[in-house]
Amino acid sequence: MRPTNNALKKIDYYERDWREELKQNVTTVEELKEFFHLTHDEEENLLQVVEKHPLNIPRYYLSLIDPLDPDDPIKKLAIPSADELVVAGSMGETTTDPYGDDKYAKGNGILHKYPYSALIVATEYCSMYCRHCFRKRMVGLPNEKTVENFQKAAKYIADHKEITNVVISGGDPLMLPTGVITRMLDSLRDIEHVNYIRIGTRAPVVFPMRLFDDELLSYLKKFNKKKTIYLPTHFNHAREITPLARRAVLAIREAGITVNNQTVLLRGVNDSVSAIEDLMNGLVRIGVNPYYLYQCMPVSRVRHHFQVPLIKGVDIVNRAKRRLDGYAKRFKFIMGHEIGKIEIVGRADNKLVMSQIHAPSGHQEEASRILVRELTENGGWLDDLPETTFSS
Ligand code: SF4
Repeated sequence: MRPTNNALKKIDYYERDWREELKQNVTTVEELKEFFHLTHDEEENLLQVVEKHPLNIPRYYLSLIDPLDPDDPIKKLAIPSADELVVAGSMGETTTDPYGDDKYAKGNGILHKYPYSALIVATEYCSMYCRHCFRKRMVGLPNEKTVENFQKAAKYIADHKEITNVVISGGDPLMLPTGVITRMLDSLRDIEHVNYIRIGTRAPVVFPMRLFDDELLSYLKKFNKKKTIYLPTHFNHAREITPLARRAVLAIREAGITVNNQTVLLRGVNDSVSAIEDLMNGLVRIGVNPYYLYQCMPVSRVRHHFQVPLIKGVDIVNRAKRRLDGYAKRFKFIMGHEIGKIEIVGRADNKLVMSQIHAPSGHQEEASRILVRELTENGGWLDDLPETTFSS
């Protein structure tokens, strides 16, 4: 009989304890074969891929996949493919660290690239290892980049009065035990110059059960009254917006916390006008603010099969925005580049018009500059596009 994930669809995830459910994640190719047919060659390839970038898929997320559809977008986000054996390919050069994290690492898991924002790498663990992750070089792998001493991290932030906000990221910080999360947040609560804290998590999307934990929610609700928390999450496709995900989002909103979404534009997943339109409309419907749509970075073993040429991406975004209402089109189309964050404003004939919105410390004069580049057929990153000037 052909393998199927039907049994996973029947599990009552609302009632599952998140710690117990996490232990049921699919983490080996052998387990994956119970749900999806793999040819001998596919199996061999996947075994090679997961040696480099481990496999970790919650049963809930696996249940969203149509096993009979080879082009299923959810499948592409969760299940490794032989394309990950290609370090760099059709789209050009790649790197393991496209955002320049290592350059701005201050030790003890702190990244401090922009003067006003500090990021704490809280864990390398996630409930799912997304195949397109830009921190693929560290998620699920032993590394020395995560925080070791949270009190010291808090001291770094307290000592840098220019920091107005802190991002707790990873990995997925919500996969840490509640007691660890509360200790982390407690150490930041009384730092006067920190206006707000962001907790970056994909849990509402791939592992909503984590947000059904009353202890965590009541702590976050209480904390949020003293210091504002925002929760950036990462929906990529309208099919991820399920009743379970909606309940997780509602639980966060009931704690008074605003949920913002950061999508990545991904080939074969959401690279069409209707996919972006449905996603953004679905988000505002459940009370999530569309915030960023990221151009896929030139990440090794990711770029080749996931990146969309900018000429196509900008047209998709423009056409989708024409159809979306004000709240649904609030998102910015962004390149998270080593030189800073660059908003892709639009296209004038064959020119791409961009506005830099964040620049690293010491380069603040670049933080509001306009950039114009010549669009090419296949260029997927700023560095691929020839310099040009804007003239009307
Ligand atoms: S949850 Fe986030 S950090 Fe973890 S693998 Fe997915 S994209 Fe990467």
